[in-house]
Amino acid sequence: MAEANRPIVRGYVALAAVYYAIMTPVHFFALSGVSQLTMVLVASCAALVSAFAWKQTQQPLGSGRLEFTAAVVNTAVYGNVMAAIHTNYDPSDLIYFPMMALAFAFTSVTMRLAIASISVVLCTLFNELTAEFNGAGYAYFYIGFAAAISGLAFVVFLQRAIQAAIQAKEAAESRLVNAEDKLEEAELLSAAMHQRALTDSLTELPNRRAFFEFLNDWGVESDGSSKVWLIALDLDGFKMVNDVYGHIVGDELLKTVSKRMQEYCGPEASVSRIGGDEFNIILQGVEDEDACLVWCEALLEEVSKPYDVQSRLVQLSASIGCTELLRSQKTSFIIRNADFALLHAKKTGKNRVVVFTDEHQENAKERFKIEDALRSADFSREIKILFQPQVDLARNQVVRAEALARWDGPALGMVEPDRFIKIAEESGLISKITLAVLDAAITTLKGWEHPVPLAINLSGHDLLSNQVMDEIIQTLEVSELDPSLIEFEVTETAMMADTEKACDNLNRLSKLGFSVALDDFGTGYSNFNYLRELPIDKLKIDRSFVEDIGNPMTEKILHSLTVTANALGVNCLLEGVEDEIQLVMAKRVGAHAVQGYIFGKPMQSEKLIDMMGNHGEALDASDVTRVQSSF
Ligand code: C2E
Ligand code: CA
Ligand code: CA
Repeated sequence: MAEANRPIVRGYVALAAVYYAIMTPVHFFALSGVSQLTMVLVASCAALVSAFAWKQTQQPLGSGRLEFTAAVVNTAVYGNVMAAIHTNYDPSDLIYFPMMALAFAFTSVTMRLAIASISVVLCTLFNELTAEFNGAGYAYFYIGFAAAISGLAFVVFLQRAIQAAIQAKEAAESRLVNAEDKLEEAELLSAAMHQRALTDSLTELPNRRAFFEFLNDWGVESDGSSKVWLIALDLDGFKMVNDVYGHIVGDELLKTVSKRMQEYCGPEASVSRIGGDEFNIILQGVEDEDACLVWCEALLEEVSKPYDVQSRLVQLSASIGCTELLRSQKTSFIIRNADFALLHAKKTGKNRVVVFTDEHQENAKERFKIEDALRSADFSREIKILFQPQVDLARNQVVRAEALARWDGPALGMVEPDRFIKIAEESGLISKITLAVLDAAITTLKGWEHPVPLAINLSGHDLLSNQVMDEIIQTLEVSELDPSLIEFEVTETAMMADTEKACDNLNRLSKLGFSVALDDFGTGYSNFNYLRELPIDKLKIDRSFVEDIGNPMTEKILHSLTVTANALGVNCLLEGVEDEIQLVMAKRVGAHAVQGYIFGKPMQSEKLIDMMGNHGEALDASDVTRVQSSF
């Protein structure tokens, strides 16, 4: 309020200062004698006091000091008027009183000052009228009184208006402050939410999204002056920990591993959790490949130290793939290269670091080409199957044929399974291929007048996904095929990740009447005890044993494998039999059946039917020769 009144008081004292500054010389020249001295003295005093007051009101004053300033100037004005009246005795000078009353009313900071000043003015006027002017000029009293009342009324309304304006201003300001507070709150909230969206809830590390944001920013901001490395790290055997100790221990372990990695990384590297047990690290300030390798190896050592998780001592290792971040490359390529190196590290024994080099480049290019084409493939149209016969040695008869996938896509033409099956498995696309092969096999079986039982390969992904197994079983049920027409081939390695689940899913197939063959037998774990648990109908001994026929141990091993099969009560098929010598050996070691080039490479269905001769009747030596000569 004082601040609102300050300009009024300031205007008033400025006016007074100017007025009395002018009046001082005027009095000096217009008057003479005592009155000259008196008037010059009081006018100059009033000019000085008002000028000083004006100076004082330059800065904000409290309402008390402002009131005092106005009162002092009022007094100076009042003094001048009194001096003027008492030196001249002119009744017309009484007009000063109403003017004073008005001026004091308008310029009063408080009602208290207004009433006091005006009372003094009116009382003095009254006194002057009775004492000095002998009742003359009472009209001045009325004018003075009216001026005072209207002045006061004006002051009341003016002060109210000022008050209202101040309140409105304060309200607007508080609304503004409120709005600013709200804005700040909203900004804080949105920052917190953004932070949350970028943080992995379990480990509190930056998450996948944060990592990609960083990579994108890096592409824009980096000046390329120092090298930056992308390190892809994957824990080895984490799934096993999860399976053996449960998810709570698994989660706790992930938290501890993350913390340990973060401590190791310090300020020069930042870790983010990409998902599951995969982490990416951005390392800066390491200038050459060897130094990066050393840094990564030390990290692996750190990660491999034992963990005390919920009173259990857990140990695991990790594999690392690493590549330099180059501004010239697209970030998606850089990530692929790091993943490629990581995959290489995993494939070549785990617990090691592989730095992506130019030598990897060619392999990586081929792999990415296939992976890209796989991602956009329409498997139901592009997957074809060939058939390779399995011949029962006792009956000398084709008893089944293995359905083997071929991929004939627009981008790459005809692709052999050795080039695409692994990549499809690694990129999670294999199940689509399995389903396409199954559909093709069913269609073929239905098209045959005398169907030849088929064998279909299942990958680990299929076996470990209940959803995929549901789909497979549903497809089989819809087909209404005789289950004896289909056998599923699985490898030991495919089941290793989760033997229990794999076993459950194999049992589902077995219960429906489909037989199961253990593929590539002898190359995996060959734990006969666990074989007993599985619903296996056939062991398919891996081709590598037959290839190694020159080794005298081979026949012994093969013999013991067939004995094992007999002991387990399952059939035994020898894969990769290419010539007569191998065929003789297959018979000698007691294999029940063979599959191999001697009876035919994977072939079109017409050829298979043709080969079956009289619809699967016993093959004689001439058939074998005929089949051989047709390739
Ligand atoms: P596999 O399941 O062990 O299939 C047998 C492979 O050995 C076939 O190769 C076959 O052509 C080859 N082979 C058969 N007899 C002989 C022989 O006497 N000598 C030699 N040197 N090779 C012989 P293919 O068709 O190229 O398939 C290679 C692998 O690709 C398969 O090995 C299998 O692991 C995978 N595969 C093929 N089709 C599928 C499929 O539909 N699903 C899945 N998951 N994997 C498949
Ligand atoms: Ca197979
Ligand atoms: Ca095989």
